[in-house]
Amino acid sequence: MVATPAWPPKSLPRLYVDQALSAGASLTVDGTYLGAVLRLGPGDRVKVFDDVSGEWLAEIAEAGKKRVTLIVRERLREREAVPDLWLLFAPVKRGRIDWLVEKATELGVHRLQPVITARTIVERMNLERLRAHAIEAAEQCERTALPELAEPQKLGAVLKSWPQDRALWFADEAGGDPFRPEPGPAAILIGPEGGFTDEERAAIRALPQARAVSLGPRILRADTAALAAVALWMASAGDWE
Ligand code: SAM
Repeated sequence: MVATPAWPPKSLPRLYVDQALSAGASLTVDGTYLGAVLRLGPGDRVKVFDDVSGEWLAEIAEAGKKRVTLIVRERLREREAVPDLWLLFAPVKRGRIDWLVEKATELGVHRLQPVITARTIVERMNLERLRAHAIEAAEQCERTALPELAEPQKLGAVLKSWPQDRALWFADEAGGDPFRPEPGPAAILIGPEGGFTDEERAAIRALPQARAVSLGPRILRADTAALAAVALWMASAGDWE
């Protein structure tokens, strides 16, 4: 069956709410977008999702510029099954990291894991801002599940506790096999702007679950490499069928 594109939408506004949803529930949300920007009023309909119970149709009961009250009517969709792909990436500069989180969310990544490597220059990240980008992307692309956004971890710790059953596709700018994703739990690891050190490369390659892969003959920026690899994985082992 041909998938129906979700964008550009003729559809109703969509909103993530941090509150469990059920038929008949009433909830109050910030009015900036629905009330002040879209100027919706009583009787207008919106879609809401809570990352737990799927997507629901809701009707505006009261609307103001500061607050909008919604009544949840009926469930439109169950929460989706998210492809089991983690994206591990060394944090890059603001702007690029925002873009990376937004696009990885659109592409359907399950978990975003920042990894601190020897040459990582950006060590402090605003996870709240990144979460806001993930939510906005999920609202726009019709996801019913948010990606997990994990606390940054050092590469050594990540490798030490790596799950037995999860493949680690290690994008190695120094060369590797062509990337041919296989089904099953997986993760993609992308290095920082300065690349991996030889010691890191050896430690990653020593992990039995790791496979060093090439993303072609050109050196890609870290954010480009991440999205190229995720797209490739989604197309052959994810949910693009
Ligand atoms: N400074 C490094 C160099 O000049 O070799 C380049 C690092 S690159 C900007 C950032 C990360 O993107 C790399 O660590 C790697 O994970 C990934 N990457 C970029 N191009 C790649 C390629 N052609 N094959 C595999 N991985 C690549």
